[in-house]
Amino acid sequence: MSRAKTLGILGGGQLGRMFVQAAQAMGFRVVVLCPDPGEPAAQISDEVIVADYSDTAALAQLAEQCCAVTTEFENVPADALAFLAEPNLNLRVAPKAAAVRIAQDRILEKAHFKASGVLVAPYCVIDSEAALHGALHGLNQLKADFYPAILKTTRMGYDGKGQVTVLCANDLAVAWQGLSCAVCVLEKRMPLVAECSVLLARQTDSRGTAFTTTWPVQTNVHVKGILASTEVAAVNAGDSHSESFAQSEPAQAGVDRVLQASMLLAAQNIATQLDYQGVLCIEFFVLADGSWVVNEMAPRPHNSGHVTMNASSISQFEAQVRVAAGLPLVPARQHSSVVMVNLLGDVWFDSAKPALVREPNWAAVLAFASKDVGVHLHLYGKAEPRPARKMGHINVTAQTLAQARLTALQIQQALGIVSKPHHA
Ligand code: ADP
Ligand code: MG
Repeated sequence: MSRAKTLGILGGGQLGRMFVQAAQAMGFRVVVLCPDPGEPAAQISDEVIVADYSDTAALAQLAEQCCAVTTEFENVPADALAFLAEPNLNLRVAPKAAAVRIAQDRILEKAHFKASGVLVAPYCVIDSEAALHGALHGLNQLKADFYPAILKTTRMGYDGKGQVTVLCANDLAVAWQGLSCAVCVLEKRMPLVAECSVLLARQTDSRGTAFTTTWPVQTNVHVKGILASTEVAAVNAGDSHSESFAQSEPAQAGVDRVLQASMLLAAQNIATQLDYQGVLCIEFFVLADGSWVVNEMAPRPHNSGHVTMNASSISQFEAQVRVAAGLPLVPARQHSSVVMVNLLGDVWFDSAKPALVREPNWAAVLAFASKDVGVHLHLYGKAEPRPARKMGHINVTAQTLAQARLTALQIQQALGIVSKPHHA
């Protein structure tokens, strides 16, 4: 097939796999560049270039075969994207290196949020002994009520990795040493009433006109720093929010109409200020007084955005294909209410017999589907289940959020997943 019908992706994980599936369904070949041919995306791609992301010969080979390249994880070296965007390679690259460089670094990221006019949790940078002592001695505007705080490495963190809770100033030095004295941010631990994310896709046409698609605000539940579940209420025809869907229908946790609008606006400002190209997801912390702060952003499809695969007229992966391939983006319509349940490797272990690893009973899970409730299983093809490893997810769709929540809870119980509910 021709170069014009071939897309490339840097990264072989599950987000890449679902991009490959969407692209192939839309008639494209996909070449995956990643270091391990056994990775989920590499298993099903049309071709794999097994190489390191900084291998310029391999990147050039990818550029030769593809008309566009995207990425599926934010820790791909920004220099690799900059290399691919060289004009002589004649390649569409989304996201751009500059945006990924910012999203990879919590300090640059927070600076960008502030420049976009949105609030972040109080924080200071710990990048040297002097900064540590400054923080310990109450400099850098750190007040007594700053603690408990969370110390986070500025780079390479994901799923709560590279983070330590610091209960008081006395614990800070040891916590920093525990993170190998890496460059860190110390962030106030916020009293969260909900966590939300806004998924968007943005593209600019040949005349420089930008178009942005946003999906409805998603409400997320994290357990031990890892996403456990996400919910989104369907948008009722003729109404911008599902509150009026039915008297008994619970509101989507943490999201009223005003909050939803302000988070969507903030997300669009952040994307516009970056001149972002591609799929972007922005995480928010909702606080007790109804205000919010922005947590972080991911320059790629996002775990919480998996709800779009079965509940929206356009999935985040289809949107990524459209932007990469220069196809038109369209507004998204949330046709169903949905609860996504993450399947971590823990589900493969029996709590009564921890040594035993066995495939969960998918037939029993799929049997929860009915005329009114869709149960959509997505597995990532990972051979080895490990605790906390993302192995797959299930989207439960229904006309009402109450129905989707009920079935999701039943499935979680059947699989032995202990999870916090999405409180209204
Ligand atoms: P990661 O890159 O691992 O997703 P996050 O900064 O998003 O890192 O942190 C993971 C989770 O930890 C968040 O979703 C939230 O549940 C919790 N968390 C992180 N920072 C804070 C904070 N400042 N206050 C309260 N909870 C936090
Ligand atoms: Mg996060």
